[in-house]
Amino acid sequence: MFDPYTNEAEVALQAVRTAAQLCRRIQEEMVAEAMVKVDRSPVTVADFASQAVVAHMLHETFAEDPLVAEEDSTSLRTPDQEGTLRAVTGYVSTLYTESKPEMVCEWIDLGSGEPSSRFWVLDPIDGTKGFLRGDQYAVALALVEGGKVVLGGLGCPNLNREMKPDVGGVGAVAIAVRGQGAWVTDMEGGSFRELKVSDRSDPTQARVLRSYAAEHTDTDKIDQLMAALDTPHPPILMDSAAKYGILAAGGGDLLFRLISPQKPDYIESIWDQAVGHILVTEAGGRVSDLSGRDLDFSRGRQLVGNVGVLASNELLHAAALEALKAVGADRRPEGL
Ligand code: AMP
Ligand code: MG
Repeated sequence: MFDPYTNEAEVALQAVRTAAQLCRRIQEEMVAEAMVKVDRSPVTVADFASQAVVAHMLHETFAEDPLVAEEDSTSLRTPDQEGTLRAVTGYVSTLYTESKPEMVCEWIDLGSGEPSSRFWVLDPIDGTKGFLRGDQYAVALALVEGGKVVLGGLGCPNLNREMKPDVGGVGAVAIAVRGQGAWVTDMEGGSFRELKVSDRSDPTQARVLRSYAAEHTDTDKIDQLMAALDTPHPPILMDSAAKYGILAAGGGDLLFRLISPQKPDYIESIWDQAVGHILVTEAGGRVSDLSGRDLDFSRGRQLVGNVGVLASNELLHAAALEALKAVGADRRPEGL
C-alpha cells in the first residue's frame, strides 16, 4: 500500500501516532492544573516533546531529508526554562528511556532544516489554544517533493473515530498519499477507513468550518459569507488542522481561512496547511486560496504566493469563490 511511499507512510503514521498519544497524556496530566494558573507551560512541554519524538523517528529512517518544523530549542536551553526542559525530557524518556536534556534539544533541532527539493514539514502541536482549552488540536506532518505535498499524516487526539466535530473521542490518525487516497484509523491502531468528502452540492445546505480563534479569521466576513450562501447552519468553530480532517471525512463542506483585519499582512505557514491540503485533495475535495489560486508550496516556509485558504468538497468550490468575491473576502483587507 502507498507505493512508492510505503516506507514514508509507515514512518509518518508511526511518528504522528506516537506524538499524538504523548500529547494526549500531557494534556490529560498537565492542563487541568495549568488552567487555574493561566499557564501556557503544558502546551510548551507538549510542543517540544512532540517535535523531539517526530524528528527523531523521521531521522532514524530518512536522515538525508530536511525537516522544517515550527519549533527550535533556543528558548528551551535558557536557564529559566530548566523546569520545562526537565518536563519535556521526562515525557520523551517514557518512550526512549536513555533520553537526556541535551539529546532532546538535539532532536528538536533536527527540525531546523530548510525547504528543498524534498523535505518534511511538521507542526508538532497545531491549535495550541485548543490544546489548552481541552478542545481539538493536531500533530501535523507532511512530505513535500518538488513543491508539491505528496504525503500527509495528521494526529487528532481528541477526535472520535467518525471524525465528527465533537470533542472527547478515542483519537484519530489520518494518512494521505498522492494518488492513493486519504485514510483514517483510531489513534491506538486498528483497521483503516477511506475518507471521502461530502456530496453536498447545494450551497444553502453548506456546513462551514472556521477557526475557533476569532483573531485568526474575519468573523464579520464569515457572517456575510453565511448570508451570501443563505445557509441555516451556524459555522463549526474548531482549532487546528483537525478541521481539514473533518472536511475530508464529510463532516463539513466548506472551510474558510480568511485574513484577519487585525493582521492584514498575515501569510500562512506551510506547516499549518500542507497536511490539510493533501488530506482534502485525496478525499476528493479541493483546496485553493481565497481567490481560487492553487496553494504554492515551492516558495519556502510560508505560502507567499497565496492569500488565505478555501477548502471544499469540490462541488461547492465555485459557489464559495463567488461568495468570497461578492463580500470582498477574496483579498487582503484594504486601507489598514
Ligand atoms: P486555527 O487553529 O485555525 O486558529 O489555526 C491555528 C494556526 O493559525 C496556528 O498554527 C498559527 O500559526 C496560525 N495563525 C496565527 N496567527 C494567525 C492569523 N492572524 N491568521 C490566521 N492564522 C494564524
Ligand atoms: Mg500551527
